[in-house]
Amino acid sequence: MTGNLDDPNAKVLEIHHRLCVAYDCPVAYFHSLDPLSELVSSLLSHRTRNADSGRAFKALRAAYPDWAAVRDAPTDEIQQVISGVTWPEQKAPRIQQILRGIAERRRGELSLDFLADLPVAEARAWLEELSGVGPKTSAAVLSFSTLRRPALPVDSHHHRVAVRTGMIPATLAVGPAHAVLSAQLPEEWTAQQIYDNHEVMMLHGQRCCYFRNPACGRCVLLDLCPTGQRRQAPRADAEAQRPTA
Ligand code: SF4
Repeated sequence: MTGNLDDPNAKVLEIHHRLCVAYDCPVAYFHSLDPLSELVSSLLSHRTRNADSGRAFKALRAAYPDWAAVRDAPTDEIQQVISGVTWPEQKAPRIQQILRGIAERRRGELSLDFLADLPVAEARAWLEELSGVGPKTSAAVLSFSTLRRPALPVDSHHHRVAVRTGMIPATLAVGPAHAVLSAQLPEEWTAQQIYDNHEVMMLHGQRCCYFRNPACGRCVLLDLCPTGQRRQAPRADAEAQRPTA
């Protein structure tokens, strides 16, 4: 166990450590896309199953020689190519608008490779000035792409585990939770460690801390988790009151 668990930072590290053991850190990166491609992939994936957004991404790559051609294609054609994702009618114009915005701000250059040379906070701020790019997408571009920068994305699974274990209050929405959860991790952590933290929190939300009926009885975080202890308490009381044979 890591330090005094009444200390919130020690508790965050202990949660990370236990989940890393459970989900086998270091977790392999699932993408090796350049940052611009990662941005398009992230935009497609919003509220869409991974398999569907992956298919739409491949379809875009197959239909056009580069991202400039995607930017310049008729919007209804792009919408057709990505029709397997949720809200293709919104995503097609948004992707094109973002591609145009990047080229304009980079004096014609349609690439995000330059972000490698900026400090992470500055790179995230640059991305978040693009309409429709929030903290989750900016962190995903920096972390998941070949840039491999230390930026923490927070998805709904990650957020749910953080709320239930008391790392953040339930009133803190996913967007603002990015800065708070990021600040709880040691500054010296590598990109891989930050990525691992996101991955194991997400995996725990998917495989144990379900939205409905979390499996607290088999959770490795139960003794650290106020939600799990509250949920288990009535069961313990019932056991204690059961007459002995
Ligand atoms: S104890 Fe229950 S609520 Fe807490 S993290 Fe584990 S599964 Fe989620």
